[in-house]
Amino acid sequence: MEHTDQTLDAFLEELKEHSSGSSGMSPNQKLDSDLFRYSAAPGISGREAAPACLVRGQVEELGYTLTEDPLGNLCYHKGEPDPLRPRLMISAHLDEVGLMATYLEEDGMVRFTCVGGIDARVLPGRAVYLPRSHCYGVIGVKPIHLVDSAQRGKAVSVEDLVLDLGADSKEEAQTLVQPGDQIVFDCRGWTEQGSLVRGKALDDRAGCVILMQLMEQLDDSNITFCFLTQEEVGCRGAKAAAERIRPDYSIVLEATTAADLPGVPEQKQVCQLGKGAVVGFMDRSTIYSRNLYQTAFELAQKQNIPIQTKTMVAGGNDAGAIHTAAGGVQTLAISVPCRYLHSPSCVIDPKDAYAVRDLAQVLAQEMVSGRLSREWDGQEIF
Ligand SMILES: [Zn+2]
Repeated sequence: MEHTDQTLDAFLEELKEHSSGSSGMSPNQKLDSDLFRYSAAPGISGREAAPACLVRGQVEELGYTLTEDPLGNLCYHKGEPDPLRPRLMISAHLDEVGLMATYLEEDGMVRFTCVGGIDARVLPGRAVYLPRSHCYGVIGVKPIHLVDSAQRGKAVSVEDLVLDLGADSKEEAQTLVQPGDQIVFDCRGWTEQGSLVRGKALDDRAGCVILMQLMEQLDDSNITFCFLTQEEVGCRGAKAAAERIRPDYSIVLEATTAADLPGVPEQKQVCQLGKGAVVGFMDRSTIYSRNLYQTAFELAQKQNIPIQTKTMVAGGNDAGAIHTAAGGVQTLAISVPCRYLHSPSCVIDPKDAYAVRDLAQVLAQEMVSGRLSREWDGQEIF
C-alpha cells in the first residue's frame, strides 16, 4: 500500500523526525514520545496508511516478518511457531474516528459523514485537518440567533454541520477535497497537562505504541503482533486477521472510556485515570473468560502492576470479533483509561499505558508458556 501523495509524505517525515534521538531513552520515556507522533498521524477507518507507515518504519529493524492482508492489517511474527505451545495474537487498532467528505456545495462548503461513533456535540467550531491536500478547515454551524426556537436547546445533528475550508466556490473547494477524503481532528492539538497528556486518536494509538514496545520485549515465535484496521466501524480488520492467524489466545490493547468526572457516581465511571490497566469481565460485545480475568488480576498483584476493573458494562472492541472467530479464541482486552474518548481531545495518564504494557507482557508470557489452564471455566460449576 504505497501512497504517493507528496504532502502527506512530507508530514510523515516531519513526524518521523521526532523519533530521532530516542535511542538513549528509557522504555517509559520512549512510550511518551511515541504517543505524540502516533496521535498526530491521520488515519480514520479505511484510511490507515499514515499510522501504518509509522509502524512499518519503526519496527523495520526488529527482524519480524510482515504479512499485510487485503484489509490493510499489519501482522508481524518471527520464526516458526512451536506446535507444542499455544499461539497468541496481540493486537491494537490503527484507525481513529473521524469524518469523510461526501458532497461539495455550490458555495464551496463541504458536507461530510461521521466514520465511527462521534457525538455531534463535539464537532461545531472544531479545527480539522485534511491530510490528502494537507490543509486545515473548521466545522461550521448556523449561529444560535438564526436557529428557530423549536430547535434551540436540541442537540445538533451532523446534517446541520458543514466543513468550511475557506473556499468561495465548488471549483475552489474541489482543489482541496473530493468525496471519500478523510477529515481528522486537528493533529496539532497535543498538550501535556500536569501528569496527563491530551491529543486526538489516543484511542487506539496508545495501544499501537504499547504493541510496538511489546514487540521489542517479547521474543517468541508463537506470538503474532497485529496492527488492525477498521475497528471503529465494527471490528472489520480484526475479524479477517483472526480468521487468518487462528490463534489459541488473544490480547486486545485498547483505550476505554473513563467517566471519572464530577457528578458521575463511582459505579458509573467505568474506570479512572491514574488507577492502572483496565480489565473488564464483560462489555457489549464480549463476556470475558473468568480464567483470564482472574489470571490478569493475580499476575498484576504479584508484579505490583496497577490494575482496575471496568465498573460498567459499556463499549466494545476488537475482542468481540476475535473471540468468536476461527472456531473461538480465548481473549482478554487490556485498556488504557481515556477521558473524552472519540473527541478531538482524548486525555490519558501515561502511567496507565505503562501498566497496560507491563500487564500484557506478563500475561502474554503466561499464555504462550502453556501453563494456563486450558479448561477455561469448566472447573467452576457456578
Ligand atoms: Zn478503540
